[in-house]
Parts: sequence; structure tokens; C-alpha cells
Amino acid sequence: MADYQLFIDGERCDAASGETFATHDPATGEKIADVAKAGREDAVRAIEAARRAFDEGPWPKMSGKERAAKVNRIAELIGEHADELAELEARDGGGTIRKASLADIPGGKGAFEWFAKMAETQPDEVTLEGSPFPASENTVRYEPMGVCTGIIPWNFPFIMASWKIAPAIAAGNTSVIKPATFTPLTALKLAELIEEADLPPGVVNILAGPGGTVGEELAGSPLVDKTAFTGSTEVGRRIMQLASATVKPVTLELGGKSANIVLDDADLDQAAAGVLWGTFMHGGQVCESGTRALVQRGIYDEFVSMLADRAGKIVLGNPLDFATDLGPLVHRSQVETVERYVALGRDEVGEPITGGAKPEGLPEGLDTECYFQPTIFADVDNSAKIAQEEIFGPVLSVIPFDTEDEAIAIANDSIYGLAGGVQSGDLDRAKAVAARMRTGTVWINDYHLIDPQRPFGGYKQSGIGRELGTFGYDAYRQVKHVHVNPETSGRDNHFHYAVLSDQI
Ligand code: NAD
Repeated sequence: MADYQLFIDGERCDAASGETFATHDPATGEKIADVAKAGREDAVRAIEAARRAFDEGPWPKMSGKERAAKVNRIAELIGEHADELAELEARDGGGTIRKASLADIPGGKGAFEWFAKMAETQPDEVTLEGSPFPASENTVRYEPMGVCTGIIPWNFPFIMASWKIAPAIAAGNTSVIKPATFTPLTALKLAELIEEADLPPGVVNILAGPGGTVGEELAGSPLVDKTAFTGSTEVGRRIMQLASATVKPVTLELGGKSANIVLDDADLDQAAAGVLWGTFMHGGQVCESGTRALVQRGIYDEFVSMLADRAGKIVLGNPLDFATDLGPLVHRSQVETVERYVALGRDEVGEPITGGAKPEGLPEGLDTECYFQPTIFADVDNSAKIAQEEIFGPVLSVIPFDTEDEAIAIANDSIYGLAGGVQSGDLDRAKAVAARMRTGTVWINDYHLIDPQRPFGGYKQSGIGRELGTFGYDAYRQVKHVHVNPETSGRDNHFHYAVLSDQI
């Protein structure tokens, strides 16, 4: 029996093949657990269970209030197991315990609470006034979509699972979720909490397995009504292709290369902290990281030396130690990707002004091969590959500009449009710049703050649709217009039949 099993149709089970895979702590290389490795057969079984739970089970017929009580119960259980979840999240993905306990677990819990509130407060039916047709009654009904699948990445496994499950089930759908193979543990632990919350079987199903089999089934199956995907733009394109076979609606949250614009009236101390926080939190393995800092020429030299100086003070170490700022990257393969981009940066731009290598002198027992120093390239041209491509590691490109128009042009010169920042002492000026950035979120004098109540998603190749907020709830509801002619007999109010004929 695997240490962490699949959760299908209300029961935990091994994969049909009996196969397992090991998950490791990237900080030390130690094995943490054996996880049941789902295959296509398990994915089909999970989708069928979700289909039955939707078509025949009580969940979609329950009132919003009844569903909200269950969704809130999941949030409560997350709160009760917060320490255990935080440690598991930090060990499985290499993020720090500080991030896991202050952001990841409360963030996931907050998503369940928010969508429970949506289920309780958002009307299922709205009456429309003012029809041009005499004596008609018109309503719009909001209905669940059906079976909703969610495919999630390794960088924020617990929050991403929560963002996919909570809105789906709150709105009356059933759900099948696949975590990434590097980081399956907190999603599978969440399955245990959902089991304890006693939802009807099949409402939530969670299975870890490869993207090429399990993920493809979740996106392509004709039994699935909607797919939500968070991950790379490349796989996002494949998800769209698979979903197109049955014209399935998709929500896609994809890559980014966000610009953090530092205007010359910014408080440099605050802005430098904002740029470093915006780039290096979780080692830059964040889709909306501000990995391009656009700095106005008048403050450029002073600001760049502040960045280099302070980046050197970021403490790399054991993620389970509260004193650690940065843990390892998720896997050695991610370090190799970063090394390739840093080598490219050396060719394109020159020596980085700080970092550029794996760290030395880490505490004993840590796997140096899995760590990388915060790295900054200055004087980068926006056309450079390191400024255009998502690296998904601790690498910042600093780009100088002269005028606001130039800053906006550079910021928008990207295939992505997920997020961005403006650092300025003049809020009106900053808001005017923010309005011209073609991107889904802009933080003024801040960065990274995502809140379940506000919409999140991308422009351009950063995705389709929005998660969170009321927008993220409606993304899981179908809209039905019901027109009633209250006249149950007779021909008054049916003058429009004459559009066909007076004789019928
Ligand atoms: P990835 O695209 O490689 O994988 C994401 C998920 O898709 C995983 O569960 C994977 O197993 C699955 N998958 C892979 N191939 C598949 C296929 N053919 N069919 C179906 N599923 C498949 O991404 P990753 O490396 O796990 O995560 C990093 C990427 O995620 C980055 O590009 C990052 O920007 C993006 N991301 C975006 C957001 C956002 O909200 N926009 C948030 C987090 C991460």
C-alpha cells in the first residue's frame, strides 16, 4: 500500500496498476513518501465517479447554504491541521516554512472560506425586467457546469488545489484534481480532510500521476464539462487542443514575465525591498514574479547598487528553519534550467552584478545541487532571451528607461501579461501607468498580494479567464435564460408568430 493513496469516489485506494512513485525533499534529497501513481484507467474511474456524483448524487441539488456548510467545514479542518500541512508543503516543494505557514496554508483555507461565502450569498436566479415582449417573465438561472477537472503545477501545490476545488464544489459541481508529480503530498492530505468533512462520494477526487496520461484524460474526456489548468503556456496550449474536441470551457493560468516599474519619484528603500520581494520570493518560482525591473534613468545607478547589496543578504538554508529566506528550488532539474539561462545571460548581457552560481557554505546535510543564489543582471535589453522567456528561478533582469511611455512600451513588449508593479511616490502617476499595462494584476508600491476576493489571471499568453473573486465563482456556473409567457392558453401576446405566418 502506498503511503499516500489516490482519492476516488469517496475512498482512498492504490493505483489500478499498483504502481507508486517516490517524492523527495529537495533540500536534503531524502525520500519523504511513496505515492500511488495513477494511470489513465484511474483517471477514467475518477471522472466516472464525478459524473455519477453530479448526475445522480445530492450535491448539485443541495442549496448554496448546505454546500457552504461543507465547504466551510473543509476550511476549518485545514485550520486544525495547519502546522502539519505547512511542514508537508515546505518539505515536498522546498518553499520555506515561513511561506507555507504564513501564505500557502492560510491562502488555501481562505479560498474555501471565500467560495463558501459565494455559495451562500450569490443568487442562483435573477429576474430580468424590461422585456420588449409583452407580459413575458424572464429569469437568468446560474447552474453548476457538471464535472470540472483541475490540473495544477508544483510551485504552490496547496493553494492551487484549493483554488480549483473550492469554487467548483461551492457552485455545485463535482471535481477531479491532479497535482504535479514533484509535489503531490498536500493535495493528497487535503483529500483526507475532505473525506473527514463527509461530502457525498465522488464530489471530490484527487489523483497524482503523469501529465501525459492522467492530465490528458482530465482535459480531453467527453465526460468532463470544464477544465481549469495552471502551468506552463506550452502545456496550456495542449490543454486547449484537448478541450476543443468537446468544446469544453477552459480556465488557463499560464506563464509570466512581469515588469516591475520603478519611477524616479519612488522611495528607493521601499522600492528596492519591493523589487527583491517581487522577484525572489520562493526563488522566483512564481508565475507572477516581477522578473523584469524597469528602472528610470535618474535613479538607476543608485538603485541597482542597492539591489545588488541587499540581494546578497538573502539567507539560503534549510526551509524548515524559520530564519531561512530561501530554500532549494523544487528539483535539481530546475536548477539546471536556471543555470542554462544564467549562462545565456552571461553571453547576452555580461556578468551578473550579484549571484550567478550555486551557493557555497550551506548548512551540513543540505543538497547544494538543488540551490541557486539570487542573481541579478543589470543593463539588460528587453529583447534579450533572459528578459523575454520565463526562467522560473531566482533571476532578475534590470532594464533602464527614460520616459514613462518607454517604460510602458517595454513592459508591454512581452508575449505574457500576468502581473506587474509600479513603485512611485505619486499615486496618480502610478495609477496612470498601471492603467496602460496590458496585464491582469498590477501592484502599486507592493507586490505578490493575492486575495481570494480579487480576480487573478492573465492577458495575452498568460491565460484565459479569471480565478478568485466573484469572477472565479461565475467561471464554474452555466448561465441559463428562462423566458415564460404567462398566458397558458389563447393567442394574445403571441403576435410574433406572424413572423412565420398568420395562418398557423
Ligand atoms: P507544467 O505545465 O509542466 O505542468 C503543470 C501540470 O500540467 C502538471 O500537473 C503536469 O503534470 C500537467 N501536465 C503536463 N503535461 C500535460 C499534458 N500533456 N496534458 C495534461 N496535463 C499535463 O508546469 P509546472 O512546471 O508544473 O509549473 C510551472 C509553470 O506553471 C510555469 O510556467 C508557471 O508560470 C506556471 N504557473 C502559472 C500560474 C498562474 O496562475 N498563471 C501559477 C503557478 C504556475
